[in-house]
Amino acid sequence: MVISESQSRFAQGWSEADYVGGHPALDFINTVADTGKTRLGDKIGSWEALRDWVGGAGLLSKQELAAFLQDPELDDDGALARLHDLREQAYEGMLGLAGLADTARQGMAYQGMEHVGEAIREALGRGAFREEGGRFRWRPDAGSSERWLDAVALGLEDFLRSEDVARLRQCARCTWLFVDRGRGAGRRWCDMRTCGNRAKAEAFRCR
Ligand SMILES: [Zn+2]
Repeated sequence: MVISESQSRFAQGWSEADYVGGHPALDFINTVADTGKTRLGDKIGSWEALRDWVGGAGLLSKQELAAFLQDPELDDDGALARLHDLREQAYEGMLGLAGLADTARQGMAYQGMEHVGEAIREALGRGAFREEGGRFRWRPDAGSSERWLDAVALGLEDFLRSEDVARLRQCARCTWLFVDRGRGAGRRWCDMRTCGNRAKAEAFRCR
């Protein structure tokens, strides 16, 4: 059997279409499967799914990922629940940043960013300031039971300090977030292969 390059690059259950946010922190927030504005279809319901996801995400370096995978006993249900909580709090915060939180949601957006800020503070407290490719960054401690939470928090910190925040957008169809690096009218969909095509098909049926 011939395995194409795009298939072999990603672990089971994940494909290129899962990493369209433009930053690993946004791709993490996008780990829900819903095609509308609900966020009930969780795609990282188990540690196995999360470990498979991170391989294609660029959130950790190869060496970091290898160190994380060496000791799976460190990962418990509590840490997975805290990761889900951080994901949803970060989502609400990002909606606020993108100017998409309506009046009813602004309190949640504020709380979301507070939660993210606290997670970043804790991650910095446990992390190490390390050189990586000529650039220094805060990195998570692979020996901590909070390491995945810290990896995501430090990813969020990296994104939130970047100029890409000004280009943060949400898909017109689902809840996925992305950095719009295009010019002109701007990108409307998380991905043309998924939401873009579904929206086109619907517009065609409505005619
Ligand atoms: Zn979408």
